[in-house]
Amino acid sequence: MISYLSIALPLPVQKVFTYRYEHDVHPSCLIGCRALVPFGKRIVTGVIVESSQPVQGMKDIIEVIDDKPFFTESMLRFTKRMSDYYLCSWGEALKAGIPRGMTPQSVMHVELLTRVEQNELNIMKKRAPKRAALLEILMNHSGPLTEVYLEKMLKTGTVSDQLDALENAGVIKTTRNLEQGSKPRLHSIVYVHPDILKDEQKLREVLHGLDEKYPKQASVFSHVYLCQKRTGNGIALSKLKEELQLQSQSPINTLAANGIILIQKEEFIPESEVIKDSLAKRDESLLNMTLEQKHAHAMIHEALHEQHAKTFLLHGITGSGKTLVYIQAIRSALALDKDCLLLVPEISLTPQLVDRFFATFGDQIAVLHSKMTNQERYEHWRKIRNGNARIVIGARSALFAPFRDGRLGLIIVDEEHESSYKQEAPAPRYNARDFAVVRGNIEHIVTVLGSATPSMESMFNAQHGKYHYLHISSRADGATLPELQLIDIREHRKAGTLHGSFSEEMLQAIIQRVIKKEGIILFHNRRGFARFQECPDCGHIPMCKNCSVSLTLHKHSGMLRCHYCGYAERSMHSCSVCGGTDINEPGIGTQKVEEELQELLKSRGLKVVIERMDLDTMSKKGEHRRILTAFSKKEIDIMIGTQMVAKGLDFPHVSMVGIIDADHQLFMPDFRSSERTFQLLTQVAGRAGRSGHLQGKVLLQTSHPEHQSILATMTGSYELFYNDELQSRKDALYPPYSRIVTIECSGPDEYAVHESAAVIAQLLPTKGQPFFILGPSIPFIAKLKSQYRRVIVLKGNKNEDPSGEILRTVLKKAMHIYAVQHAKKSVKVTIDIDAYGLV
Ligand SMILES: [Zn+2]
Ligand SMILES: [Zn+2]
Repeated sequence: MISYLSIALPLPVQKVFTYRYEHDVHPSCLIGCRALVPFGKRIVTGVIVESSQPVQGMKDIIEVIDDKPFFTESMLRFTKRMSDYYLCSWGEALKAGIPRGMTPQSVMHVELLTRVEQNELNIMKKRAPKRAALLEILMNHSGPLTEVYLEKMLKTGTVSDQLDALENAGVIKTTRNLEQGSKPRLHSIVYVHPDILKDEQKLREVLHGLDEKYPKQASVFSHVYLCQKRTGNGIALSKLKEELQLQSQSPINTLAANGIILIQKEEFIPESEVIKDSLAKRDESLLNMTLEQKHAHAMIHEALHEQHAKTFLLHGITGSGKTLVYIQAIRSALALDKDCLLLVPEISLTPQLVDRFFATFGDQIAVLHSKMTNQERYEHWRKIRNGNARIVIGARSALFAPFRDGRLGLIIVDEEHESSYKQEAPAPRYNARDFAVVRGNIEHIVTVLGSATPSMESMFNAQHGKYHYLHISSRADGATLPELQLIDIREHRKAGTLHGSFSEEMLQAIIQRVIKKEGIILFHNRRGFARFQECPDCGHIPMCKNCSVSLTLHKHSGMLRCHYCGYAERSMHSCSVCGGTDINEPGIGTQKVEEELQELLKSRGLKVVIERMDLDTMSKKGEHRRILTAFSKKEIDIMIGTQMVAKGLDFPHVSMVGIIDADHQLFMPDFRSSERTFQLLTQVAGRAGRSGHLQGKVLLQTSHPEHQSILATMTGSYELFYNDELQSRKDALYPPYSRIVTIECSGPDEYAVHESAAVIAQLLPTKGQPFFILGPSIPFIAKLKSQYRRVIVLKGNKNEDPSGEILRTVLKKAMHIYAVQHAKKSVKVTIDIDAYGLV
């Protein structure tokens, strides 16, 4: 049978393409499968999305990769909605749902058929130097080479024209092979033979018989038996050997040969073996809830039973036990035989939270996040797809988790206000929080957005009845909110009671707690040692070669680093412009805070263990978990960190949080800077005093005690902050009153970038539209990773254009004209709907 099929390709082109396919299955079985197709001179992997009609000049599908649809019907609808909303192609949205390492790569191999004579080669060198160079590489190697390798050797970009010419001349032969991505890896798992397990009489006989004659076999058998009894699962062969320190496998083999144990090849290692050093050890679903927690759970429970789409905003202050409500909600969903998805901002930074779910739900959980290897991610993906995982915990991209159709019953988005839910690049530039609600609506299920400091958008939606509001206003376990104390750093500076970054008050508070062995967390949101280096004689500041930002000093490594592109150079001992040797190092980073504090405490005769937690110290895998474990065992006295310490840390012995510089983000040129400051400070403050027996204290150093974000943090009043901020957003027409869309032009040629931005701005109509156009303007970071930037900002009025449909239509039309008439190859244009930042 011949079918005509629409295929979505991962290209920035807003359309699908028709291909022909000869096959013997029903065409509906092909929808959602991935297929390899020719596109121009390339071979690309696309997704079959619809049946179609024949069109002129269409090509054949090379191969359908999947034997079962990769995307379910509801995921096809979901990704289509995403592409419509964010103005990307359907193929790009679908690609976001295919984990890295799971796309088969089509690889071209090039083989030399005949050697070319030297004089012929010399002539070719003059006429077609690239072709000749290619031929020389092939002749200097034995055996076929890949196209990618040839391109790398020649360093001149694509070689497909040269290969075509040589193939036509009969000199070479090219073949395409498909190199598969990850494959399932099988593990040997050992079980007690089921016949023996269910027959107690037999079991006793076996144990007795082995004990007398074969002590090694007996110890293997009892180990497997006990493990299975404890976990309900088998034990991995490798682990069994390791735990019993077996030199040889023969006792295991003999037991297997005698039908006493069973060794099975399985895809998954029982999860209960995977987690070591768990930071949580009890099943929390049996804990008592407060009245407010019970109420929140009851509302979610009821909605789960109704089986309609419904979105809740769960606003619970820090330490109020939102996690316990999530756990109970998941239990309710599982009882209805539904699967659950839990999104967290950055999973590798929140091992405590994840461990709590594992302690309760065990190996029903699959995990998806960016720090996994391709193989690990693939295995967890398969576990979900095969129905072996009932709960998925993951970061942003887990929004695409491949639950089977109709299985998903509950989506929870923890810390819904976090900016890491927004994907900045590549397309689709989606917000996983917002599209969790969309997925919930498409699947007719319950979505819960949880936060101690809800985003302006979500609270606005709750106030206007779009979301159902649930509030937990007191802490669980009888704990109370910490006492907050403001320290006006300006007064200390005047009085001379400032020791580097530490006021005398802050220092005394630290010393008291060090002596009492209570935990201390210090927050400073800038890593490195100093913000930059500066020569006071000539004013020279070392800047990044690729970005228009100053380089941050990392004193321990003696380097200046760009925090945007990673560029690094040696720090200055003397000025590289005028030779001056008196170099300033203004602006304090976590390294300097740590160094100052060590000195200050040493001079007062105190010896303490301080650990730093920021991107620089956390690059090693497992380091984060190691530090948290050590901190929980009180092996570390003081933890200093960037916003990493604001996220999800829950240590009952922490009685003090010190905020070194609360003003860090206040005056960023961004309409969200007040909101971010309030959220961050409140979250950090919430790490203190989380158990009933220890009163927490938060000391906050600022030079702007009158700022609304600082005031709201000090009063602990979300309402105060929300109402103030809402008014200023309304006055300036910012979200939630408007929809912010940015059009960014970028490229290596500043003039071309400038010109393209001007053209696009002119193509957009200005009169009688429900939006304003700002710019084009030069953004705060004018050059990033060697690309010059210009930005146009559109502010869509949500009153006049609630869905943004008018704005999108106008924008699509303008971009189409730009693409057809004005587009330059060197200029990249990206559109960001609901852009998060304007920096
Ligand atoms: Zn100088
Ligand atoms: Zn840079």
